[in-house]
Amino acid sequence: MTIRFDGRVAIVTGAGNGLGRVHALGLAARGAKVVINDFGGARDGKGGSSEAALKVVEEIRAAGGTAIANGANVTDFEQVKAMVEQAKAEFGRVDVLINNAGILRDKTLSKVEMADFQAVVDVHLMGAVYCTKAVWEIMREQNYGRILMTSSASGLFGNFGQSNYAAAKMAVVGFMNALSIEGKKNDIRVNTIAPIAATRMTNDVLPEAMLERIRPEQVTPAALFLVSENAPTKTILSAGGGVFTATQLVDTAPVYFSDKELSPEALEANFAKIANWNTARPYADSNAQVQALIEKAIKSMQA
Ligand code: NAD
Repeated sequence: MTIRFDGRVAIVTGAGNGLGRVHALGLAARGAKVVINDFGGARDGKGGSSEAALKVVEEIRAAGGTAIANGANVTDFEQVKAMVEQAKAEFGRVDVLINNAGILRDKTLSKVEMADFQAVVDVHLMGAVYCTKAVWEIMREQNYGRILMTSSASGLFGNFGQSNYAAAKMAVVGFMNALSIEGKKNDIRVNTIAPIAATRMTNDVLPEAMLERIRPEQVTPAALFLVSENAPTKTILSAGGGVFTATQLVDTAPVYFSDKELSPEALEANFAKIANWNTARPYADSNAQVQALIEKAIKSMQA
């Protein structure tokens, strides 16, 4: 069935450029009323103007869609709360939040200034936290909400020179994990996208030939699916160049050591058995994982 967003209101952060822009255009083209948030800064998060957001609003209106611009800096909770109030005043509800705003301040840990580490964590993690917190009660009252976090392969798998960015991008996965559970009873579904696309963020870190093949428009269908009515929850999709993968945290089968056997040397000797990825599985929540460990301990002690 065609995925539509008629009657739905969506907020997309960092929607003045790159991926956020095409996510917003996609939502509007399928009937959503969209808040185009962007504080209009440079790639490192410095500066700011409302021009980028206004341009996207004009583009949506020219195509017959409905959108308003908002210049909130997502690292400022007061501005974020005002953005959500603006959305409610203008459109009456908030159904979809795409936490997409992002900056880069790449440096190895030995060279990075703490202020640059903090700035990256503030935008990616705290920006997502503030926006989500500001829409959460609205979504709970509506018994409907779709929230998308934007992670990155850098956070999921690691990348040289991006410890600030990687830490923040993995943090939003933890945020999703908890919220997907807290949101269940009010039909709030929370997912994560890990995009790969040619934008100003990647235009000097990826080779030219590769950039031509990874257009932001190829990522947006995954974002739209993950905020649609029938979206899954607690799902991580990687998307780039028309290719999609699902990513999951998994845990190996528990291995027990009695007090007599237990030592650092025993762990070294049995490491391959513990890290036997053939036994790996995901867990629905932390209780399930803790329970599996404790059950194994109790059973092994009784044996
Ligand atoms: P982009 O620089 O083109 O767009 C990011 C937008 O976010 C900009 O318009 C910027 O003004 C806005 N923004 C930054 N800080 C903000 C703030 N504090 N408040 C409001 N708006 C703010 O970059 P992009 O590539 O489109 O990135 C979008 C998201 O995708 C980011 O979270 C990024 O980390 C993530 N991502 C992108 C790639 C990729 O390959 N492009 C890969 C992995 C993750």
